[in-house]
Amino acid sequence: MRETIISVKNLVKNYGDFKAVKDISFDVFEGEIFGLLGPNGAGKSTTLEIIETLRTKTSGSITVNGFDLDKQPGDIKKIIGVQLQSSGFYPGLTLLELISLFAGLYNKEVDAMELLKKVNLQDKAKNKSKELSGGQKQRFSIATTLINQPKIIFLDEPTTGLDPQARRNLWELIKDIRNNGTTVIITTHYMDEAEQLCDRIAIMDEGKIISMDSPDKMIDDLVATGFERPKQVKAANLEDVFIHLTGKEMRDE
Ligand code: ADP
Ligand code: MG
Repeated sequence: MRETIISVKNLVKNYGDFKAVKDISFDVFEGEIFGLLGPNGAGKSTTLEIIETLRTKTSGSITVNGFDLDKQPGDIKKIIGVQLQSSGFYPGLTLLELISLFAGLYNKEVDAMELLKKVNLQDKAKNKSKELSGGQKQRFSIATTLINQPKIIFLDEPTTGLDPQARRNLWELIKDIRNNGTTVIITTHYMDEAEQLCDRIAIMDEGKIISMDSPDKMIDDLVATGFERPKQVKAANLEDVFIHLTGKEMRDE
């Protein structure tokens, strides 16, 4: 049996009269990539930010690594890594300078070059953050989540707006992070991303979790109901054609 590292019970979040999160419960297991999948407005970011201690909840209980969110938010902060919006980086500082800055804030010693290598940005160490492409910015912001050597990292739509090569590259990076023992909780509205990347997903819609399982199991369950795709499935799709034509290499280096 896998160990539970995040436990969310009966979480409710109201913004005034508006019910953004409507009594959801789920567990995240240690060492997995757990996805919150759903359309815009489903309540994914709200849920994530509450667990990150950055937003207040209306009701419900949450524990992270055994710490109670209400009583020990400081302990939770120490063991999680949260991806910052890349717009929050000082544009005039180099990547090395930014990592030192964050390490100072966390009061941690960190080998900045080693960290940049992990996300394949060692060649950009002396570049300013404003000089990075979209995919590079995302990789850098993922690197910043690792500075305090967290047990869990939170990624809110890390691949939105990226091209196919950059997305695939980021999936590999996120799997590497998981394989090194870090638990990952991620939000996305891309079905292919959830299918490729997540060990388990919770599908959210209008503030509720409407299904939760591994992507494989969900698909098998649907097929077992007699469901068939209306159109014959081809052995490849347009994205495969595109990658075949343009190659797998990153374009933004
Ligand atoms: P998602 O990340 O799934 O797109 P959000 O958690 O950002 O969804 O938002 C869920 C719902 O809550 C949306 O309808 C959004 O407009 C609303 N919402 C989010 N933040 C606030 C806020 N600070 N005040 C009022 N409503 C909010
Ligand atoms: Mg969101």
